[in-house]
Amino acid sequence: MTVAINSGSLSVLETRRILSELISKLAEESRAKIGQALSETIPLEDAVNRILAEDLLSPINVPNADNSAMDGYAFKGQANSNNNKLQKQLKIIGTALAGQPFLGQVGDEECIKIMTGALMPASCDSVIPQELITNVIVNDSQENWLIFSANAVRVGENRRRQGEDLRLGQVAIPAGRILRPSDLGLAASLGIKSLLVRRKLRVAIISSGNELRSLDQPLDAGSVYDSNRYSLIGLLTRLNLEIIDGGIVRDDPQTLKNAFRNAALKADVLISSGGVSVGEADFTKQVLQELGEVGFWQIAMRPGRPMAFGVLKPVLDANNSPTNSPGSTLFFGLPGNPVAVMVTFYQFVRSALLQLNGATVTTAPIVQVRSAENIRKKPGRTEFQRGIVTLNADGQAMVRTTGSQGAGILRSMSEANCFIILPAEQGNIQAGDLVQVEIFEGLL
Ligand code: AMP
Ligand code: MG
Repeated sequence: MTVAINSGSLSVLETRRILSELISKLAEESRAKIGQALSETIPLEDAVNRILAEDLLSPINVPNADNSAMDGYAFKGQANSNNNKLQKQLKIIGTALAGQPFLGQVGDEECIKIMTGALMPASCDSVIPQELITNVIVNDSQENWLIFSANAVRVGENRRRQGEDLRLGQVAIPAGRILRPSDLGLAASLGIKSLLVRRKLRVAIISSGNELRSLDQPLDAGSVYDSNRYSLIGLLTRLNLEIIDGGIVRDDPQTLKNAFRNAALKADVLISSGGVSVGEADFTKQVLQELGEVGFWQIAMRPGRPMAFGVLKPVLDANNSPTNSPGSTLFFGLPGNPVAVMVTFYQFVRSALLQLNGATVTTAPIVQVRSAENIRKKPGRTEFQRGIVTLNADGQAMVRTTGSQGAGILRSMSEANCFIILPAEQGNIQAGDLVQVEIFEGLL
């Protein structure tokens, strides 16, 4: 696999395409190697946000028998369809409730009262809804007769057919679905108690930089708290992954190498932040050279221009024999700036992790809304500005930025509910212009 790309600057779209191709190859390789070991069966109630590993086929028809879609009266519509009468008059001979079927026979001139969801008697094919009946009369023999206009209902109406929602054997949920609450309900409606899902990816995270301090250390001049690890823990938790916290690693070749090796041994994916910007890339490159194949990419975006991507190979132990490494480990070297970490994670890493684990990748909705303000933008790079979409007094969606857009200003990310995506070639935006907005509320 070749990951080194020397074509200067890559566009955001090219980056996505290249990543997706590389990962689809990798996913195929690892499936060939470990196959079913990548999946596990879990109880339905634990399955939300897990990835379905195989098509879920319906073991029953839904509904499992013909039933009424309305409260009303069931009758033989076909038998009554050719008698040219303007009104139908049918004798009411019984009742069917949900879970309490009518077990008798219904004749041509008869009907039964039926509730929504109640089993249709075998001989009935139509239901006249309660609100469309003209009258119910009681005759001299104390019989109840139903009267309604002949054209109030067509043959077969208001009946739910067996298997109408799902036929026995039909795919109810396709493999690759990131399971949502509705999927759990759907599986339950089919009587399915457990699901085969992909095992959680093991993702290691490392923060690199001599200036970084852990939260229990004092902050001396020129140092900063390591926030990236916590942003990443949050992002990965939302994806329901197994997180291996590699802590802070100093910019020292041997320390860095050990940390990377360690992660490669335990994790399917390693995400580091810091140390890939122009000033430091050569150093990181040197360290990674012996561990695998890593490309250093320049992406025409803001924030988040530099990103390293590659594969760390199975690690050899002191005797040069293969260790129990699970296979090659995917590596993402994200830029150190706190906002850049989140933007590159969201734009590239999230979909890569999902794809690697066999998920059908969906993205947040992208919509066009009017900008409430002028936005400064230089042509050249795709910008992911942080924005807040709100409705104005007329009920129209408008977006404004969160203010200063420096790549280190994490507050801009914390306050935002969307990215304002300004294409590479785009220049300044005037208030009132339409801009593309990617809503991340609920996803990030
Ligand atoms: P680098 O990409 O290593 O050159 O870092 C770029 C900027 O991000 C520098 O100002 C770093 O101090 C800052 N930075 C790097 N890693 C972290 C981190 N884990 N938490 C907070 N800031 C960081
Ligand atoms: Mg650094």
